[in-house]
Parts: sequence; structure tokens; C-alpha cells
Amino acid sequence: MPLMQSWLDSANDPASDFPLNNLPYGVFSQTGEGRRCGVAIGACVLDVAALETAGLISLSAGALLQQGRWNPLMAAGPAVWAELRATLTALLQAGSGKEAQVRPHLVALDEVRLHMPFDVAEYTDFYAGRQHAFNVGIMFRGPENALPPNWLHIPIGYNGRASTVVVSGTDFHRPSGQLKAPDADMPSFGPSRRLDIELEMGAIVGAGSAMGARVSVAEADAMIFGYVLLNDWSARDIQAWEYQPLGPFQAKAFATTISPWIVTRAALEPFRVAAPAREKPLLPYLKEPGPMLYDIALEVAMQPAGSDQVTTLSRTNARELYYSAAQQLAHHSSSGCAMRSGDLLGSGTISGPDKDSYGSLLEMTWGGKEPLTLADGSVRSFIEDGDTLTLRGHAQGDGYRIGFGDCTGTVLPAA
Ligand code: MN
Repeated sequence: MPLMQSWLDSANDPASDFPLNNLPYGVFSQTGEGRRCGVAIGACVLDVAALETAGLISLSAGALLQQGRWNPLMAAGPAVWAELRATLTALLQAGSGKEAQVRPHLVALDEVRLHMPFDVAEYTDFYAGRQHAFNVGIMFRGPENALPPNWLHIPIGYNGRASTVVVSGTDFHRPSGQLKAPDADMPSFGPSRRLDIELEMGAIVGAGSAMGARVSVAEADAMIFGYVLLNDWSARDIQAWEYQPLGPFQAKAFATTISPWIVTRAALEPFRVAAPAREKPLLPYLKEPGPMLYDIALEVAMQPAGSDQVTTLSRTNARELYYSAAQQLAHHSSSGCAMRSGDLLGSGTISGPDKDSYGSLLEMTWGGKEPLTLADGSVRSFIEDGDTLTLRGHAQGDGYRIGFGDCTGTVLPAA
């Protein structure tokens, strides 16, 4: 599919993250005003709450865009999602005849503040990047036990915290917790010294499922509303001491950052790719009926406090995952666990095959043993106070790109 032309010039720039093909959903405010649902288009946000009030958007399910969050639309289901996307496309495309009515509801992106686009119901973090699981396994358990015995059969995960999922641009304090060096007799309590990122995709569940209902992979795919970039900040020293036998707990509970725009499944449809070859056959309930991963270029950048130099640490791609979000969601419901509209599923860290494509500092510096040198000459094993970490991602189309917007956060000193 080529670039869809809009009457808004900035949306037709091949370098824009937000052409008419994208139409991602966010929540914005202007100084002194409340939160409003908006859609990114070119260099602007379209105030869709105002368009609904003006009667230019009229959904069959009623008014869904007035609450300053996207949950009402998400819960309305795929037919209504398609209805809104078709309406927005018709309003914004070149030759629509709607420019005079729509243009007054555009606000420049650089004049707004962005907020959480939806209320997170529950948050589950998976572990579906094979290279990452292998690398971490070597460091935590040794090469002979690197990949856990269940890994090629189950998209493994743990239940995380929805309460500390925050939108890009939300700074937070370095977490403290129990730490214990391997040679220490007793643990101590203090600020993490091995604070890390995890480069992940987040899948957002739109349509839920009932308790006791097992959803197929195809049904799960249709339940997914859209995707964001997700940084699953991790305190490696807290994690190493606490994680056995029940998995991460406080090491990942203090902050999880998502990018501000929900990129819909519809916008990503042209970028579907098949999963890597299966090393072990999957059980029937996990088999995919078609390509369910996406070709999305991803990168991580770091900027120290006071430095004007940004260093790109790593570049990888979402197609490196071994399990898709649809497979994860199908597995999540396999016991009869109810899934809710607004659930967020982290993919797991997405690492490519090489050091410059790894999705965490733990891997890039190999447990801190091989520090990185940044563009300004400073050296890092893990994150230091004042560092700003940014994830970026886009799918590259023919003359256009589907961008996610920055997923960024600055680490403040321990409170
Ligand atoms: Mn994670």
C-alpha cells in the first residue's frame, strides 16, 4: 500500500511518523485545559473529542471520545474500531472536501502535553525474545541451562503491575530494594546499582474474554486493539536476589514506560511477517493461522544529564520475537483466565543476534563486564542518575512510515 495523501501537507512528508496511513490514538492537553482524545496526523494532533461534539464523527455505538481516555472505544469492539478509522480517513484524505470544517480542530504537536492514552487494566510481561532469554540465561544460570526447558513450548510470563505503567516523559526515582552480592553473608537495603532498560513492544487488549473461555490464536489476534513501545525498566541486582522461584517482583514493579500513541493493528496490517522457524513443534492451541509478528525497526538511545550528545546504543526489529502477542494472549487465556479490555502485554526484551542489536544494557555490557563508551566519552555499565533513555520504532512502508513516537524517561536519584 502506498502513502495515502492528505490535504494536510505535513502528513505527506515521507519522514513523518504520522501519515494518513497511521492515525494513532493518544490523549493530549493544552495549558489550563483538560485531557482530550486526539489522533496524530503529520505535525498535528486532531482533537477528535471536538469533532465528535461537532457531529463530524458519529459512531453507531454512541459518543465514545469524551472521556480523555480511549477505553470506551477499545471496549466497543473491532467493528466500531473500523468505523472510526474509516471516518477519520474520509475526513483527512486529499479531496475530502472537509478541510474547512476539520482544520480548526488541529493543534500543533509541539504545543500539547501527552498523557496516558488508556487506563491499564492489568499488565503482564512475557519473555518471548529468544536471544534475550538465552543471553540472560547464560549470565544468571550458566550456558548449559541458558534456555529454560519450557521456553520453546510456552510463551512464559509473569503478572506485573498496572499501577506503575507511565507515559513517555514521566521521570522517576531510582528504585531501592534488597541487594545481596554473591559473596555477602546477608542482604542489605539500598538504591539499585544495576538499573537497566528492556526494549519491548506492548500489545493492548481491546476486546476482553470471559472467565473460563479459552481463546484461539486467531481470536486473540482479533482482540488486540493496538501496540505501543514499552520500556520494562529493570533493577538487575534486586532481580538476581529475589527472582527464584516466583520470578521478578520489585525488580520490575517501580516503573514501566509506554510510548504515547496507540498504533492500531489496522495500521500495522501491511507489515505482518511470519515467526521464525519453530525448533520444537508447538501444541495445537499455540499454532498460528498466518503471519502474526510485525516488521518494526526499533532502537535505543541514551543521553547523560547535561550532555547535548545522544548515543544510539542498539538497533533491532520486532520480528526477532519467537512468540507473537496473539500467541501470548491465547496462552494467557488457556487456563480460563479472563482477559480485560485495557490489558497490556509486554512482549519480552527484543534482542537481535549481535551485541549492537541487544535490547538491554545487561546484554550490551555482558553483565557490566564490557562497559559502553558514549558519544560524549562517558562510560556506562548500567544507567546512572540523570540519564535519559529513549526507545524509538517505526514500520517502513513505500514512501511513508508508521511511527510510534518516542518512549522516553529520565532516571532521578534515589528518593
Ligand atoms: Mn520484560
